[in-house]
Amino acid sequence: MIWIRTDEPRFFSDLGDVLRLFYGDVQISLEAGETVFEHRFTESDGLWTDCWVSQGQQSSLSRPARAGSEVEVKRLRKRQIKQALYNLLRQLTGMRPPWGSLTGIRPTRLLYEAMEAGMTLDEAVAHVTEVYDVTEDRAALLGEIARMQRGLREAGPGRFDLYIGIPFCRTRCSYCSFSSGEIGDGSLVGPYVAALLREIDLCRALMDRADMSLRAGYIGGGTPTAIPCGDLERILTAAQSAFPGAVEWTVEAGRPDTIDREKLEMLKSRGVGRISVNPQTFSDDTLRRIGRAHTGADTVAAYELARKLGFEDINMDIIAALPGEGVAEFAHTLDVVEALSPDSVTVHSLAIKRSSRLHEQLAVAGDGYGQVTREGAAEMIAMARARLMDGGWRPYYLYRQKYMAGNLENVGYAKPGKACLYNIGNMEETVSVLALGAGAITKWLFDRALRIERAPNVRNIGEYIARVDEMVERKRSIIFSDKSEATRSCNPE
Ligand code: SF4
Repeated sequence: MIWIRTDEPRFFSDLGDVLRLFYGDVQISLEAGETVFEHRFTESDGLWTDCWVSQGQQSSLSRPARAGSEVEVKRLRKRQIKQALYNLLRQLTGMRPPWGSLTGIRPTRLLYEAMEAGMTLDEAVAHVTEVYDVTEDRAALLGEIARMQRGLREAGPGRFDLYIGIPFCRTRCSYCSFSSGEIGDGSLVGPYVAALLREIDLCRALMDRADMSLRAGYIGGGTPTAIPCGDLERILTAAQSAFPGAVEWTVEAGRPDTIDREKLEMLKSRGVGRISVNPQTFSDDTLRRIGRAHTGADTVAAYELARKLGFEDINMDIIAALPGEGVAEFAHTLDVVEALSPDSVTVHSLAIKRSSRLHEQLAVAGDGYGQVTREGAAEMIAMARARLMDGGWRPYYLYRQKYMAGNLENVGYAKPGKACLYNIGNMEETVSVLALGAGAITKWLFDRALRIERAPNVRNIGEYIARVDEMVERKRSIIFSDKSEATRSCNPE
């Protein structure tokens, strides 16, 4: 247990994130613990000084005190206190995390911030290395992503993106922390679809009133193709009729064992151009271990069927550092992916969330579970990047999560012209997202994206069905909290 004694306890959670960069999933407290990190803050002579002491070593960081709004000052204070603690941890451990002192989900944001302040892309790349100690390799990755996103980040005025969540899966993967449930006997599907159709209908009126039109639609989950074809078609038809004009529709077909000719033909006939067929791994042993009820051969068969039926934009998700997998198993997965040549590949680093079954399994089995080391995970991610780049895919969006193997990242790679607009807008938060279904979170942008309001739907499926009107009311209250801004919020540049 680590004990943080700080003059600024309001940053406790952020300081915990920095400590976890170095010590992993460790317990941290403000009141007790064997290892103490002591912090003192002073402001004098126009300087903010943060001094950290632990285990006989100390590190101090002074920067000019800054003025501004309360929110802005808090943000700057948070950055400095985190950076000062990070400096001490580097000194104590000799480690350099790949993303330096950054603990947030969207490292690209800092790059864009620097560019908005007048730097060129190359200067901004150098800036994140210098100020946040991001490794040169990761800073270069950010630069490549920014190049790929040129002309794709902004949706144009009056446009929004749509997310529809289908929270059902055939079985639950051991690493899953999403708000999806096993479909079981399917008795909840009918009432869920009815609630979703109502939410679509009520939101049509909201978007009409806001005078906004759809740019990109995305049906995710869960596994949307886990529900009967007719139900999925009803949802898609209703959404396309309520929100016409999208330039992109994605449906996560996800688990290959839920994909069949009927569903693929229906998606194609409804104008869905982009689908995901997700192997996660091509090792059957691993698939069994993580609770996915399909084989690598099922993935290949589903993918080939989709190609045969004319899908020209297929994504595959793979995961590095799955339990029991080493570099050789991951290399095999990359071999198969390369041979199939999907249009985009999303490479995830396993994140072991506390709400997942895997978290519990690892706690019980300890080292016996064969979890790859931090170095092994880094080798896998580097291998994926090198091989995909060689094969003609380019990184186009990136995000990080807490509890990721080796403090790494998730990166979407795409062939030229196959970057997913929805993924970019959602991850970069440059487009308002209307989100429907249990657990979906609507994000609305105001004031050139400087302010983002969120309206989460309840995660529990039964609650969602019972309270769908209230979910729409939540959206209405944020979207029209500032009508004049809402209607022109989608063009932050
Ligand atoms: S397919 Fe995705 S949503 Fe479904 S159980 Fe697995 S990780 Fe969770």
